[in-house]
Amino acid sequence: MATHPKSVICDIDGVLMHNNQLIPGSDRFIKRLEEQGNPLVLLTNNPAQTAKDLANRLDSAGITLPESAFFTSAMATAHFLRHQQGNKAYVIGEGALTHELYQAGFTITDINPDFVVVGETRSFNWDMIHRAASFIANGARFIATNPDTHGPAYSPACSALCAPIERITGKRPFYVGKPSSWMVRSALDHLGCHSGDTVIIGDNLNTDILAGVQAGLETILVLSGVTHIEELDKHPFRPNHIFPCVAEIDVL
Ligand SMILES: [Mg+2]
Repeated sequence: MATHPKSVICDIDGVLMHNNQLIPGSDRFIKRLEEQGNPLVLLTNNPAQTAKDLANRLDSAGITLPESAFFTSAMATAHFLRHQQGNKAYVIGEGALTHELYQAGFTITDINPDFVVVGETRSFNWDMIHRAASFIANGARFIATNPDTHGPAYSPACSALCAPIERITGKRPFYVGKPSSWMVRSALDHLGCHSGDTVIIGDNLNTDILAGVQAGLETILVLSGVTHIEELDKHPFRPNHIFPCVAEIDVL
């Protein structure tokens, strides 16, 4: 066992959980990290649940962690926007995203917003696309929580919701979530750790693994989520390690 346990940034969906079901062995894996003393943050691109929601969801499934162990793209987006000029946002997303923005001092409005913020949601319609596009065309800045195109079973994710707005305005959003450096920096700050001592574990090559590669973290891909092993050939970068699931990880 390492004398100086590495810090771990671990994704949730497709890594520890499938919806509300534990991926077998992920509870033992988290317990082992805790016993070894590895600093841990669960970092998710999904902005639709608060840290409290996530702590409850995992607790119900058998993984008990404090709220402070969770960091979401909604939290990172609020943190990012706090450093930008303007305090009014038009939001397409779930309550967890508006909650974080309220906490950061934002007014959620459809009157002259400074920002259009798009996150994951199942409530999405023509009127929202219309409003978002006209605000952006009139100068509002376009921010999105995460660049995921889809979740399990091709369920539309944030960047798929941004696509029609991009198509109308010709503007691309700034994506705050993984693989952005902002998201990884936020997670490292949250842990109080350095990139060189930190491992990122995820199931998505384009978000988790690319984030790790760009930030100089050791990377572990697990095949329990969205990535099929054949997809590795489509990417110019490789994770440092590949395991079927977290229960099989033997490098931590
Ligand atoms: Mg995932």
